[in-house]
Amino acid sequence: MRLTVLGSGTTVPDPDRGPCGLLLQVDGHAWLIDGGSGTVQRCARAGVDPRTLDGGVYSHHHPDHCADLVPLLFAMRVGPPQRSRPYPIWAGQGFAQYFERLRAAHGTWIDPGGGVPITELSLDEEASAALAPGVTLRTRPANHSASALHLRFEAHGRAVVFSGDTGPSDGLVQLARGADLLVCECAGPDDAPLEGHLTPSQVAAIAAAARPEELWLTHFYPMVDPQRAVATVAETGVPVRRARDLDSLELPRLTPTRS
Ligand SMILES: [Zn+2]
Ligand SMILES: [Zn+2]
Repeated sequence: MRLTVLGSGTTVPDPDRGPCGLLLQVDGHAWLIDGGSGTVQRCARAGVDPRTLDGGVYSHHHPDHCADLVPLLFAMRVGPPQRSRPYPIWAGQGFAQYFERLRAAHGTWIDPGGGVPITELSLDEEASAALAPGVTLRTRPANHSASALHLRFEAHGRAVVFSGDTGPSDGLVQLARGADLLVCECAGPDDAPLEGHLTPSQVAAIAAAARPEELWLTHFYPMVDPQRAVATVAETGVPVRRARDLDSLELPRLTPTRS
């Protein structure tokens, strides 16, 4: 199981950090987790031809998390390799309606060859789905926009959790318990919190309660001091650092690598 950061930034343009995206790889399969602008290119940079992805999982459909869906599906129509299989998507309730609007605008340009089956997950309670045999997605509703989820991926007895965008959330604490890695947003500073997002102190509270093996902070807006944020969360004793684009963690743990 490998998790790679494709975008550690936000919607604010940054030369080194793209909007949100992650790449999950298990046993030769690969899934895109969120996908803001530029994630298609960074997926290729991470060594995976995005046209060969096995599917996508979305925490929510704010543009900084899903803007590359149209370019991704359009790219899948261009070979080689010629794609003729579906591109399944898992997301919160409401995503299918969102996708229907994209399809109304783009028609078959965004059909990868086998359609885009969408599995919607509950916005009210914990839900789960199998991405592939032995690869499980568990979700809980996040404290953000109406359709936002926390995402937990399990395979081979390992688990990685992605907060998505969220304010303080007991659901995230519950989902992150026992995780090998929590990738957690930290969008606002403690002295000027952003509604529907976390501050360093709030991330620290989640880390202290859930005790993941490791925590990577992501999604900092420019007013957050990254070093102070890392120091605040580090007080919990949970190993923490700021994620960078193309950071990658292999589980079981070898040495975290940076490309
Ligand atoms: Zn959002
Ligand atoms: Zn966001």
